[in-house]
Amino acid sequence: MERAIDKAMSVDDWITAVLALRKAKRVVVFSGAGMSAESGIPTFRDADGFWEQFPPEEFATWDGLIGKLIAEPRQVARFAWHVIDPIARAEPNAAHRAAAAIEQHTQVTVITQNIDGLHHDAGSSNIWELHGSLLDVINAPERRIVKRFSREDLLAISDAIRGYVQKEQSLVSLIMQLRRHYPFDFRGRHRPNVVLFGDDLAEPDWTYSCREVKSCDVLLSVGTSGSVFPAAFLPGRAELSGATVVSISPTACDGCWLQGNASDVLPRLVKAAWPDANV
Ligand code: NAD
Repeated sequence: MERAIDKAMSVDDWITAVLALRKAKRVVVFSGAGMSAESGIPTFRDADGFWEQFPPEEFATWDGLIGKLIAEPRQVARFAWHVIDPIARAEPNAAHRAAAAIEQHTQVTVITQNIDGLHHDAGSSNIWELHGSLLDVINAPERRIVKRFSREDLLAISDAIRGYVQKEQSLVSLIMQLRRHYPFDFRGRHRPNVVLFGDDLAEPDWTYSCREVKSCDVLLSVGTSGSVFPAAFLPGRAELSGATVVSISPTACDGCWLQGNASDVLPRLVKAAWPDANV
């Protein structure tokens, strides 16, 4: 649950953020679902009752999902469609591009909780994906990527699932269509590279992220409620190590807070810190 914070945004916070960025040698952009909201991917908290429709204990753990798949396959397909379809159709927005543009001015690492691959598409070079990526399929026991989807692949998968959800085709016909794209493994070792509740975070991404936040000068926390742990520990660790932590969100945050949507505020901030930035 997001904690309600009663405060107004102050000009001082903008000055703090701009001055800290101008002298920063290492920047971390720590992004959450709000970063991609304006790419058309709803945050789960903002999507109309997402967790009420799909209770996390049934849909956000592998055991829950497998149990549900046997009992109610069409409901699991609805869940998958809600998650996959917006990501299949998404393109980076101005906030992803602004995060990538910081590289022209100082060293930057993107640490993201998102699974949408949009920081890659925007051109960032150093990215750690704490919760994995929906565009990858892994061999789970070996933690080895066996396939990388293009967005066209994802769209084809999403369309096949939609046909089953809307009762235009049978489960057998859905499986036949999915087999064209998805590398099924008869021992069940292949699965989407996404971290569900109760899973360990992706490695080496988590270890390197913990290291990175200890040595950064500024951490920009963009579009995250800070309520998904252990990822949410990272801004606090950066602050303890002496970094300036700046939060960008429409909802009030503790500390230095720039109010507004990521695609509006982050490009403005980057431009204010480096007037010649290409944003
Ligand atoms: P979250 O806990 O990170 O909360 C989203 C935050 O974004 C909220 O604080 C909200 O106020 C803020 N926000 C909303 N619109 C914004 C905007 N336009 N600009 C800036 N901030 C904005 O995210 P969640 O939705 O609860 O998701 C939890 C987890 O689910 C994530 O950590 C992620 O693993 C996964 N998820 C990923 C995606 C994605 O890959 N794009 C989308 C939804 C959920």
